[in-house]
Amino acid sequence: MSESAEQTGIALDALGDWRGGGGCGTWRSEHIGRSVIVMGWVDVRRDHGGIVFVDLRDRTGLLQIVLDPADGAGAHERAHALRSEWVVAARGRIAARPRETVNSELPTGEIELRVEEVRVLSMARVLPFPLGEAHEANEALRARYRYLDLRRPRMLRNLTARHCVTAAIRALLDDEGFIDVETPILTRSTPEGARDYLVPSRVTPGSVYALPQSPQLFKQILMVAGLERYSQIVRCVRDEDLRADRQPEFTQVDLEMSFIGADEVMAVTERILVAGARAVGTEVPQIPFPRMTYAEATRRFGTDRPDTRFGLELVDLSAEMGASQARVLAEAVAKGGMVGGIVVDDGSRFSRSQLDELVEWSKTVGAKGLAWIRSTPEGWQSPLAKFFAEGERTAIEGHSGLRQGGVLFLVAGPRKLAGSVLGQLRLRLGAMLGLVPHERNNYLWVTDFPLFEHSEEDGRLVAVHHPFTAPCDEDLGRLESDPLDVRAVAYDVVLNGVELGGGSIRIHRPDIQARVFAALGINDAEQSEKFGFLLDALSFGAPPHGGLALGLDRLCMLWLGEHSIRDVIAFPKTQKAHCAMSEAPSVPSEQQLRELGIRMRQAEKVKPES
Ligand code: ASP
Repeated sequence: MSESAEQTGIALDALGDWRGGGGCGTWRSEHIGRSVIVMGWVDVRRDHGGIVFVDLRDRTGLLQIVLDPADGAGAHERAHALRSEWVVAARGRIAARPRETVNSELPTGEIELRVEEVRVLSMARVLPFPLGEAHEANEALRARYRYLDLRRPRMLRNLTARHCVTAAIRALLDDEGFIDVETPILTRSTPEGARDYLVPSRVTPGSVYALPQSPQLFKQILMVAGLERYSQIVRCVRDEDLRADRQPEFTQVDLEMSFIGADEVMAVTERILVAGARAVGTEVPQIPFPRMTYAEATRRFGTDRPDTRFGLELVDLSAEMGASQARVLAEAVAKGGMVGGIVVDDGSRFSRSQLDELVEWSKTVGAKGLAWIRSTPEGWQSPLAKFFAEGERTAIEGHSGLRQGGVLFLVAGPRKLAGSVLGQLRLRLGAMLGLVPHERNNYLWVTDFPLFEHSEEDGRLVAVHHPFTAPCDEDLGRLESDPLDVRAVAYDVVLNGVELGGGSIRIHRPDIQARVFAALGINDAEQSEKFGFLLDALSFGAPPHGGLALGLDRLCMLWLGEHSIRDVIAFPKTQKAHCAMSEAPSVPSEQQLRELGIRMRQAEKVKPES
């Protein structure tokens, strides 16, 4: 306990017949003379002896209340005891502030409340961090006292804005005939590419439920059930390594439609984004969004979620480099890989040490290295210069657009790796050179993803999206013979290089679903064990259908200009997937384990993060 509560000698008051607050931040000069009751938290108290000023705060804002013995002697007496974050109610009259004390920064800055009676509803211990300086407080402390962190106007704004976004999206979906259906939390594994969170069953010892990575199969089955348009703003749970824009549980705007093609799903999604952007007060996107195929996105930008707000596009110099004397480069091409480059016109922007730093950085993202060539009036300056004859130089300059004064960065390696390093290099160069117009918002569809890729871990064929994604009709014949060449009817929506969400047209024929499972190495027994219910459902009259899911947290984060999704989630987890406030996860009791038939091999005590 701080000195405040015990040493003040103040007895708490009951709310009594006072009701309802009254919106501290809503009073204006047109209310002068009105008798009102306001309630809220003491933000700041300024005790001038004769008169005490308190900024009272509620979710609508701040109001200066004045405790002057001339207005209410009892109220003034109690005012000396008030401390930050006490909960107080005050009755009084709205009055104009003396001209010299008008605060033009505050919406209520022209008025104040002259208090006649004050009631102390609750006291507060001294806070572990002052709210005004919360941004400087240690993250762990803020997470532990999340309710205090949430008292900050900025966090309140974020939660309110998020509410406006979901309300607008729900209204739009309702208008467009979507039916909101809740799907189970206790379910079985849905392959979205992440690890599952498992919940042991007490009733069936030895068995577990999986928390849903997405409602994918349920929403498809709702289409088989004849709902035609399903939507849900739904929590999904994936056990992945966490980053600033990833949480173990996150929210999706999830939808599924029958008797449609990709265009219809994309059009609804665009309308959702327009409605959400309008609700949050950010720039409303122009629709329809531009589209780009996966092949074009990876070729030009080295990624399937390109930030198209600036240039620095990739050039494929494999043909020129493959025939050169530069062994490392030529070998990469000979092995079926590539040499790609990025040209920066003003090479004087890079010092030698910056170039060296970039080379070192490239190794941290998986490259063997990074080469550079400066074009100067004296010719090429580069560790590689000696390998290129005049004619070769001209060809490289012609293809890449390297001109005098410019610098060409080169990455060699297997196609996917080199593309990805170049894609990341492009972002890095864009940021270093200040080329990213942060005030612009580029929404983009990326389409025609490959259906399969090789898993990075073991080289097996895996689904790029998920195994229920429909192959392009014209590629169906190659499913068995050339699976890596089969395109999917899948689409992702991207904002400024960040994936907002994605979806696909689904397989609605059991025979095609079984072929895709087979291509993924899922044998008949496993198909019927894991997905029998889906294959069954598809065999009882399934309409053609498709859908998409948007990541709501990420969307709100971007729209609100925040840098972490934790700033738009009321009770987020820490980087270690802990809830610092409730201290989840926790060690179960012996009895709980016994009931579940589980013996723990080890229990790691949850340590508070600092
Ligand atoms: N279930 C997918 C996901 O969560 C989205 C979809 O295909 O609709 O990424």
